[in-house]
Amino acid sequence: LERSRNLTHLMTGCLSGAVIELLQTVGAVADDFLYNAFVVGGFVRDLLLRKTNMDLDIVVEGDGIAFARTLAKKLGGRVREHERFGTATIILHSGLKIDIATARLEYYEYPAALPTVELSSIKLDLYRRDFTINAMAIQLNPAHFGRLVDFFNSQNDLKQMAIKVLHNLSFVDDPTRIFRAIRFEKRMDFTIARHTERLIRNAVKMNLFGKGDDPRFFTELKLLLNEENATPAIERLADLGLFPFLWPDLRPHLNIDRRLRHCLVQTQRAISWFKLLYAGDQYDPWIIFLLAIMGRSPLSVLATFCDRFHVPPKTRALLLGEKQLADQASRQLATAGPPKNSEIHLAFKELRIEGLLYVMAVARKTEVKKAVSSYITKLRHEKPLLGGDDLKQLGYRPGPIFKTILETLLIARLDQEVKTRDNEIALVSQRFPLR
Ligand code: ATP
Repeated sequence: LERSRNLTHLMTGCLSGAVIELLQTVGAVADDFLYNAFVVGGFVRDLLLRKTNMDLDIVVEGDGIAFARTLAKKLGGRVREHERFGTATIILHSGLKIDIATARLEYYEYPAALPTVELSSIKLDLYRRDFTINAMAIQLNPAHFGRLVDFFNSQNDLKQMAIKVLHNLSFVDDPTRIFRAIRFEKRMDFTIARHTERLIRNAVKMNLFGKGDDPRFFTELKLLLNEENATPAIERLADLGLFPFLWPDLRPHLNIDRRLRHCLVQTQRAISWFKLLYAGDQYDPWIIFLLAIMGRSPLSVLATFCDRFHVPPKTRALLLGEKQLADQASRQLATAGPPKNSEIHLAFKELRIEGLLYVMAVARKTEVKKAVSSYITKLRHEKPLLGGDDLKQLGYRPGPIFKTILETLLIARLDQEVKTRDNEIALVSQRFPLR
């Protein structure tokens, strides 16, 4: 550990008192167990970049699960154990998550008279990680609190803003790292180092992905498409030759063609527009990008995609449902003249925000884009003035008819055929006469 540097000062400057205290507690419990404990990975990387990262990944040289149980008692939280991997997750009452992993001691038997050598297990743990910038650790035991563990010159790569693998077989061991390389490159505005890029191109050429049946491909793709600005990352996917693997039906347009680029720009624009208006709303940008990229593919191709990448059944149903409804709505609205409000409502009412923004992104006609915008900002919030209680008072018996009546009223309201409560009452008694 020649490069050992102490980060306590940086930590107290960048982290809240609560996080420091938490890290100190981890160190104290580790001492009780006679283990070494470290915080590792993205947390260390982001600390050195002075960015906040609330994912705590802890590695202990010892039994991680037993350690997690004791730590959870001390901190007050639930433990989820993953026996097979020797890992555990502690969920604190505050909602903060701490992942605990075990670095196993590995003994190397030397022949003949030489003694068994114990290789530092944290070093092996870090060596198995994806990139040098993610392969640093900070020790937490009280006597060494804040000591930076950097075996692989990671600090230098961080300074050079370089994404580098730790060894030549990295992408052979785990091809999903290719997606991670792109994600980090674009998020942090780093560069995939030349040798690492060569290894990626080789892995792609050798078709290392096989069938893509590792569910982590889809997980990593989702993370990539969910990044703040996904467009450059998608273009990099194309640049590195990953499109034929992900979307074989787009094969003729290997190098992202003009149309796809236009579609990505429109998608980003639709998302930015929505974010500006509804900052707090939850939605999944990756769905919009995925639908937009496959915008010109038939439904069956999306189904094949879901099967190949082992997309969970619920997500599969959601993606297929949104695409089907959205494509249908786009077609309907594009063929007629300017649509009535009620027609917009009928076309869009079953869609989620993701499907709506997808329609907005791929629409060629401004009329369709406008329809989405008007639906999101106004029409979807409209409601009839009368409610179920009013209908009961008017003498209607509760049942499926209520839904029909209220929908009829909503449509009349959207097309401005009714204004007041009295207008609505008149319309109900005219359309649904009581016997
Ligand atoms: P983010 O900021 O996106 O959360 P992160 O670096 O924290 O980035 P995670 O996906 O949470 O990324 O992974 C945590 C750590 O686990 C990483 O820093 C990395 O060291 C390691 N890791 C994750 N995935 C892999 C992988 N496929 N191969 C090797 N190491 C990995």
